[in-house]
Amino acid sequence: MFNPEKEDNIFFPENISAKKEKEDELKEVIKISVSENLPEIGIDKESILEAKRKIDDILGEEWDLSIENIQIGIFANREEMEDFAQEKSIPLDKLTKDSALFYINPNTQEKYVFVAKDFEKNKRMFEDIGYSENESVNFLKKGILAGVVHEMTHMHHFFEKHGNQETDNLWEQEMICNYTENKAKGDTSKILVEWGYINEKKIEEFTLEHGNWDSFSKEEKNAVIDYFYPFLIKEYGLDATREIWKKLQLNSDINGAIREVLETEPEEVVANFKGKIKDRGYLQNILV
Ligand SMILES: [Zn+2]
Repeated sequence: MFNPEKEDNIFFPENISAKKEKEDELKEVIKISVSENLPEIGIDKESILEAKRKIDDILGEEWDLSIENIQIGIFANREEMEDFAQEKSIPLDKLTKDSALFYINPNTQEKYVFVAKDFEKNKRMFEDIGYSENESVNFLKKGILAGVVHEMTHMHHFFEKHGNQETDNLWEQEMICNYTENKAKGDTSKILVEWGYINEKKIEEFTLEHGNWDSFSKEEKNAVIDYFYPFLIKEYGLDATREIWKKLQLNSDINGAIREVLETEPEEVVANFKGKIKDRGYLQNILV
């Protein structure tokens, strides 16, 4: 029997227009400013939407950006970023010295994503080590967008209760933020370089306890962080990995989430990881 309602559902015309409407609405709320002192880097509202779709894909859940209040600022250098922060009363001095960072105003809940990149200086650096001008520019553009994606992921509601100034879920946040960043960059060379910073003794010290975060250098952290999430996907599957992170929005207990989802003791999972990441071939395989 012909059922017009059912026909509609087959072609999803309403869904398509609803989706389009939602995306237009999102474009309205996305606030992005790019420094005039940067060359054309091709990052606009559409790129941010694209980044959001990537994050959705990875986390397996549609993130409603329209209820967020995120301002994205891309600056040509640290000074510009500091001037902007001062205007908005953002205590930049208490935040990381990195060229990409995020801040959530505890009073207004306004969220900020900042990336500062000295384009010309970085371009020269790449050219000095043998990249062509074109390659260097593309590399830098991708790097800026990847920085935005990393910091945006911190804003995801899976972590919103925690910020990342606290020490309570730094490993977990950075693992997923580096993963979305690396996916956005689509280039794993940085990760393989960082691998060189970690030695086997350091790997033995890694646990998911938050207390041991500070004993790792930035490069050593990245070497672990970059591999743990892809390792989980490879060993336990995408759905289970997503499920573990989803549980973090309830509390920041990754050990509890692993135990619950994988029905395995977290120590066992970490031991498995330590065994696997000593094999460089295995590592290259899980980075896609
Ligand atoms: Zn981060």
